[in-house]
Amino acid sequence: MDNVFNKPLTYLKGVGPEKVELLKKELELFTYKDVLLHFPFRYQDRSRVLKIEEIKLGLDQGQFLGKLIDIQLIKGANNSKRLVAWISDGTSELEMVWFQQIAILQKYLEVGKQYLVYGRLTEFKGKISMSHPELNIINSEFELKSKLGLSPVYPLTEKLNRKGMDSSFFQKMVAQIIEECHPFILENLSVKLKESLGLISRNDAFRLIHLPLNLQESQKAVFRIKFEELFFNQLGLLKEKKIQIKKFDGFSCSKVGQIFNDFYYNHLPYQLTNAQKRVIKEIYGDLKSGHQLNRLIQGDVGSGKTIVALLSMLIILGNNGQACFLAPTEILATQHFLGLSRLLDGLDVNIELLTGSTKTADRKKIGSQLLDGSLHILVGTHAILEDWVEFKNLGMAVIDEQHKFGVAQRAKLWNKNQVHPHILVMTATPIPRTLAMTIYGDLDVSVIDELPPGRKDVETHLVYQGSRLRVIGFMKEQIKLGRQVYVVYPLIAESEKLDLANLIQGAEAFARDFPEPEYLISIVHGKLGAELKEFEMQRFKVGKTQILISTTVIEVGVDVPNATVMIIENAERFGLSQLHQLRGRVGRGGNQSFCFLMAGEKISKEAKDRLSVMVETNDGFKIAERDMQIRGPGEMAGTKQSGQIQFKLADLTTDQDILSKARASAIQVVEEDPELNLKENQNILKFLNQKKPDQSFWSMIS
Ligand code: ADP
Ligand code: MG
Repeated sequence: MDNVFNKPLTYLKGVGPEKVELLKKELELFTYKDVLLHFPFRYQDRSRVLKIEEIKLGLDQGQFLGKLIDIQLIKGANNSKRLVAWISDGTSELEMVWFQQIAILQKYLEVGKQYLVYGRLTEFKGKISMSHPELNIINSEFELKSKLGLSPVYPLTEKLNRKGMDSSFFQKMVAQIIEECHPFILENLSVKLKESLGLISRNDAFRLIHLPLNLQESQKAVFRIKFEELFFNQLGLLKEKKIQIKKFDGFSCSKVGQIFNDFYYNHLPYQLTNAQKRVIKEIYGDLKSGHQLNRLIQGDVGSGKTIVALLSMLIILGNNGQACFLAPTEILATQHFLGLSRLLDGLDVNIELLTGSTKTADRKKIGSQLLDGSLHILVGTHAILEDWVEFKNLGMAVIDEQHKFGVAQRAKLWNKNQVHPHILVMTATPIPRTLAMTIYGDLDVSVIDELPPGRKDVETHLVYQGSRLRVIGFMKEQIKLGRQVYVVYPLIAESEKLDLANLIQGAEAFARDFPEPEYLISIVHGKLGAELKEFEMQRFKVGKTQILISTTVIEVGVDVPNATVMIIENAERFGLSQLHQLRGRVGRGGNQSFCFLMAGEKISKEAKDRLSVMVETNDGFKIAERDMQIRGPGEMAGTKQSGQIQFKLADLTTDQDILSKARASAIQVVEEDPELNLKENQNILKFLNQKKPDQSFWSMIS
């Protein structure tokens, strides 16, 4: 039964060896199945035949039926040739022009025959004609009927089109395949799901998406296929336990506790925003439920996620537990350690830092204090995941800037306590909801959608190299006011040497513009040792240096409220989310801040569009949506390894509603019938079992 889907395309009528080769080369289509899964991306309404006299300026395309009345081959300058032909439908005449495939057309076109033509209308010097229309000979009323209707448009290549392998060729091919395969396209959803969601059957969906009867039917087909794609994605995640529906027992918190209250009422340095309060309530709700918490805190850069994490950890401490706080880099871990220590000043909380460069003696001390419970909060890098790090009673792990940590690492944390610790993950920048649902399928999501009061948008400018001097002048003004400046250079693994050289060269130029002793500059990049890096960062943090030139090591989390200018060199080489993250380094104090996106003169239109999104908005959630639209979900930060988001038809930028439905349905199915034993779920089980790990889900059709 499987065979029919694996038949090579050579079996099809009208598809000779040359065409088979081209389909392989251009679209990687080898078998019937491949063609079935090559879906149209839109439909053209070809149901109406217009009268030629109805043509007027402004009508950009149309379909007409008429008798061919004349053909002429016209020779132009430089040996150029064009074929011109006219049809008449009794109301008027239409001129058609071709510049290519002239020989083939000369054979096909015959004066006196009737043709259905469809194409784009163009106007030249007040005269309207149609260039390169699609043509069909019409010999009978029946033939005409069969040509009218909705016509699918397939993603094809220029080369295929040139060879006459266009959408209508594709449709003829797919029609043969559907006819043969139709009985073998088996249902993979339950009757219950189909009925409750109003879904059409699977084989109808495949037929109607390729051979649509009308727009409404084809929309149903598209919906059905997108739904099952997303449904099986979510079901797969559930089965791999990446979505937790069964709640585990968690470290139990019966109260917020003394330490929390003391901090909240006596040490909180500012009023929390309503969003921060709401998220803490959500977290506390989880903590006292007795279930283990797995929550993602989504918040824009600077929305104050750290204090929310601290308050959550204090609840754990107040219930006799310990907490750890993981950051992706040593710089960040150190900074969090210092920041948290400052906030906890005057409270009876013991907090320590553990990184790769922690000395052996300190490690020993940390190890024993963790075990006897006298160390309450451990801040650090991946070093915390090492096996020797054991807690007396770990109640919560906070992971800052999650995308640097993988699921496996989270699992390690899980097992650091008998009762699984609560896990709180914080994103570096917002990610679209659909991505959160697919990548972080196992996490509940809280959103901090409000910035602390008094924040001003960072004024952002796109600057071409020619205007560099003005930026230098502006930097000097800001420094005179006592402010500090970041300069960031891109550094990408593939071109690391070149990038580094670029940074050094840039730094030299800045050193000439900002000479010592009036100005002092810190330079930080990945090739420096940890100690030197830390030393340079520290000089900038305390205000000894006015300019920090670095690669993206400052990307995540560095907090210097006095810095008001962010210069991003070769900004066109950064993705939107990364730019947003970088820009978030300024605008942290009360002063108006500025971001200059430095770009080469010759950047592409796409790059210009991307950068102008940054100029237009400071809203990280909007920027994330745009980033996904521009780059596609597969290219977003942290999703590279996640094969779960490659869909044939579903589109995470537009199909949030379908995804929500698919997710809810998958959860419901698994809640009711975790092993898929019920008779009604056998279709689902069978389909799921065919999914082999090394193949994409869609490689299986039947
Ligand atoms: P992020 O969400 O990017 O991790 P942080 O937690 O680093 O943000 O907070 C950014 C800055 O805002 C910090 O300097 C912090 O002290 C400050 N902050 C956080 N919450 C508030 C608040 N409610 N009111 C005023 N300032 C706040
Ligand atoms: Mg942060």
